[in-house]
Amino acid sequence: MKRPLLIATALLAAGLGIIGAAWSQSVVDMRALAALSDAELMKLPAKKLFSSFTTPAASMKSRPIGFYAKGCQAGAVALPIDGPAWQVIRLSRNRNWGQPVLVDVIERLATEAKAKDGWNGLLVADMSMPRGGPMPSGHASHQIGLDADIWFKPMPDRRMTAKERENIKPEVVAPTRHGLDKSLWTEAHARLLKRTASYPEVERIFVNPPIKAELCKWATGDRSWLAKVRPYFNHNYHFHIRLRCPAGANNCKPQPSVRPADGTGCGKELAYWMGNGPWKSEKKPPEKKPPKPVKPPPPLTLASLPAECRAVVTAE
Ligand SMILES: [Zn+2]
Repeated sequence: MKRPLLIATALLAAGLGIIGAAWSQSVVDMRALAALSDAELMKLPAKKLFSSFTTPAASMKSRPIGFYAKGCQAGAVALPIDGPAWQVIRLSRNRNWGQPVLVDVIERLATEAKAKDGWNGLLVADMSMPRGGPMPSGHASHQIGLDADIWFKPMPDRRMTAKERENIKPEVVAPTRHGLDKSLWTEAHARLLKRTASYPEVERIFVNPPIKAELCKWATGDRSWLAKVRPYFNHNYHFHIRLRCPAGANNCKPQPSVRPADGTGCGKELAYWMGNGPWKSEKKPPEKKPPKPVKPPPPLTLASLPAECRAVVTAE
């Protein structure tokens, strides 16, 4: 896109005493951003900076840069908000961006699951922001265009309005730490997760522990795909797909493949997640002394992201 990208002055004011008067106009454009010195750029607050972009770094070759929870993305593409078997929800967030491989996997999953698994279609929630980077809310990861959240609620038969997509209520299939809501959970949910895990591009899938437990009970035959399904907090109404670093993406920092000792993670690992261990921090003992006031950490700046993200920020 050739039009200069507008970025609110608030962004700069928030992180930059140093620029001051130079940024007192109501908006700045990409040229103004490009005119900043390296030192000035590096001090920009990363969350605000990256969430201000409405377009991808389209002039750069597509690539994920850095780690899932610390990076950015070049050459991102948008998942169309409507497809033959998916709809993007919460459009106001503008988080339906990812690396081409992620868009490809979601489209393939949507159409195959509809054709073969009895899954009506995907409700696609957060992927990444147009240039990736840390989000102002909601996630630590999703920064490099290789993560996507898919809801456990099947897509309705009709095309939803923008307002409906904004206000849609999730279906919490795992309302407690120990069990599923059997009025919501269906075998099609299990088939959908199995299909997702079957794609070689998919490295991990995060779900709440009782969902993994259900899959371990359900799966027959070759159960090796279960290894990719990882019990984790906060995934009771959606699952999270994480792709491995694509071949040739040299600045993508890989995460080791999942290799549970029992081949599936249905044994010890699941038992740990179904126990109290991981959840202990939920019940904090009462404080005896009032806690000392802690200085909030300084906001994450562009300098804390991989060096290549500097080019992503200034690219047209
Ligand atoms: Zn997620």
